Amino acid sequence: MVENIVGTQELPFGLATNFRINGKDYLIPMVIEEPSVIAAASHAAKLAREAGGFWAEADESIMRGEIQVLDAGPEAEKRITEAKEELLEMANTCSQTLSKLGGGAKDIEIKRVNGMLVLHLLVDVKDAMGANTVNTMLEKISPRVQELTGGRIGFRIISNLCDLRLARARARWPKALLGEDVIQGILDGYRLAEKDIYRTVTHNKGIMNGIDAVALATGQDWRAIEAGAHGWAARNGYKPLTRYWLDEKGDLWGEIELPLAVGVVGGSIKSNPVAQIALKILGVKSAKELSSVMAAVGLAQNFAALRALAKEGIQKGHMRLHARNLAIAAGAKGEEIERIAERMVKEGKISLEYAKELLNG
Ligand code: NAD
Repeated sequence: MVENIVGTQELPFGLATNFRINGKDYLIPMVIEEPSVIAAASHAAKLAREAGGFWAEADESIMRGEIQVLDAGPEAEKRITEAKEELLEMANTCSQTLSKLGGGAKDIEIKRVNGMLVLHLLVDVKDAMGANTVNTMLEKISPRVQELTGGRIGFRIISNLCDLRLARARARWPKALLGEDVIQGILDGYRLAEKDIYRTVTHNKGIMNGIDAVALATGQDWRAIEAGAHGWAARNGYKPLTRYWLDEKGDLWGEIELPLAVGVVGGSIKSNPVAQIALKILGVKSAKELSSVMAAVGLAQNFAALRALAKEGIQKGHMRLHARNLAIAAGAKGEEIERIAERMVKEGKISLEYAKELLNG
């Protein structure tokens, strides 16, 4: 897959449970090194399940590719518009598979940015993440764009801000399950995230804990997902990717919307056997279904963090596994790990120094 390889880096692969999305049960494969993320997602899904689980959906898989044109002539926009069908047809010669599936290059947008002309090629990449496909199309049509505009071609590459490829999920958490105080705490915390960027970034990081873990498990380009998510969050000043409100019964509703460029084919997915197993466990049939599931996981993860912060604080769940990590770092082996971790948790003294002291003493 990559150059200069000397080994592989292994991470824990777990399964989050209790997820019901659009009436279907899912086991969610998650690859992540951070303690308590998988447990938290499972717990949030269990609470949402009481009210029917998650409702989720995704847009068609439209990606944007950009061609930068420098020194374009005054007639450039008009000439590109007139040649639109020709350019789309030319782009679609790059992938017969995509055309057969009803996907492919669909539209062209043009804008002027900083004195340059920028052409956006909109491509329905169907069940792929799409970067390679779109980049190939951009390079294919660039010489003709140069002729039409009379300018110089600069960068030709996909945009990771795939704002036409959004996924959304929604869930209800009943008041009877959470209690009024916890709901109020969640809403207070959410109001802070709406206005204080120091909180907003952490709020969104919690969402990405879940989304990235599914992305890693299923072999996605998680940097593309991260870049897209934060770009989307920042489109009108950096904002939370989720929204929370109360209904007339006092139940809590949560909703998420973010761009998700994911694939069930393409890239390195087919050559990564673990990703294949993860997709099989998840049982998704399309990129749209995968991104719907990931949106639901992001919402669940966010809700779990807000609930913990409004209740017992975030450390309680983290500390047990963290104590084990510290015991291992101190040199504990086999049964010693659990013994030392347990002792540190019990005494409320969780540190590497204390783990070493217990090990040596
Ligand atoms: P890809 O090049 O493997 O293309 C997907 C292939 O799957 C195509 O050949 C297509 O014909 C085929 N296919 C079969 N069934 C399909 C279906 N149902 N729907 C869609 N396609 C189907 O992969 P890609 O998704 O175009 O590119 C993804 C890769 O590009 C990732 O590995 C990513 O890391 C990399 N990449 C990303 C960026 C970026 O994000 N900025 C830039 C360059 C490369």
